[in-house]
Amino acid sequence: MSVSSFVTEHGNGWLRIKVPLPFSLKWVNAYLLPSDGGWTLIDPGLRSADAEACWQELLPQLGIGFRDIAAIVLTHHHPDHYGLAGWFQERTGAPVYMSESAHRAALRMWGEGETFSEELVAAFLAFGLPGERVAAMRGHLAGVLSQVLPHPEDVRTIVPGEALPVEMAGTNWLAIGGEGHAPGHVSFYDPRGRRMLCGDQVLPDITPNIGWLPGGDPDPLKSYIESLERLSAYDTVMAFPGHRDPFADVSGRIESTIRHHDRRLQAMYGIIAEQGPMTPFDVCERVFGARLSGNAHQLRFGLAETIAHLVRLEETGRLVRIFSETPGEGCPVIRFGVP
Ligand SMILES: [Zn+2]
Repeated sequence: MSVSSFVTEHGNGWLRIKVPLPFSLKWVNAYLLPSDGGWTLIDPGLRSADAEACWQELLPQLGIGFRDIAAIVLTHHHPDHYGLAGWFQERTGAPVYMSESAHRAALRMWGEGETFSEELVAAFLAFGLPGERVAAMRGHLAGVLSQVLPHPEDVRTIVPGEALPVEMAGTNWLAIGGEGHAPGHVSFYDPRGRRMLCGDQVLPDITPNIGWLPGGDPDPLKSYIESLERLSAYDTVMAFPGHRDPFADVSGRIESTIRHHDRRLQAMYGIIAEQGPMTPFDVCERVFGARLSGNAHQLRFGLAETIAHLVRLEETGRLVRIFSETPGEGCPVIRFGVP
């Protein structure tokens, strides 16, 4: 692995490292910012043999030792951001900073004795997931564990709306809370340089997954749009996202992301208005089609995204929920239809 293909310098000594991912996103951006007492590492990546090799080969080429990393800061708990936090803490001794909600979400999903996986499977079955897809979904959920363990032990709190408790690149940062993509997601804003480390809250070219999950935000798309509108108020000259490349026009990107969700709401409403009541699974297959077949990872996110949109249509009175029994199984299945 060569520095030239994985590392970009973004002025003032900021380094962006493209940490490899084993799915279609290809990479997650980790950032190394020079700070008092060493480097601050933001979002180290998903744990995999490739990602570990990436760090083990690149850090020496950059002249950075593991012990030079003084703090690990996370925008949110998703495996592709949080996964290597514990692995890095073992090697650096550095504290991990994340929001309390994000920490709670990580432990709820992957902590000892977790019940989240079975709650998710039960909810997906109720939303129309065919029984024959359950084994693959359970396999996918179990496979995530190796991508996030060990959990970090020394975890310190970032409070949304307050100053980040770590200095990075000689600047004091504001932690901006954002919901919808992940509970307790925080973006970091530098009011002096007007730069934003935005995590996955807003992304160039692609839109972050907005998914409904059991026990989570009951209307994540509503929360997401409201969070984006708040984020848009910050005067930002350059945003450094969790995926793809840094981008300048943050408010333009926010506007087009909101339009994307409006179009998707309209498309899902149109399918149901035309075809009659449907389960979220059926709507999901119609909207995302072949991309989901045989891929439990994609199906999980596609179905969660579909439910989030149908719930929004329900909350705004455009659709209603219809409960029905599956013949022979007695398990109620939820369809959405026009009132
Ligand atoms: Zn994410």
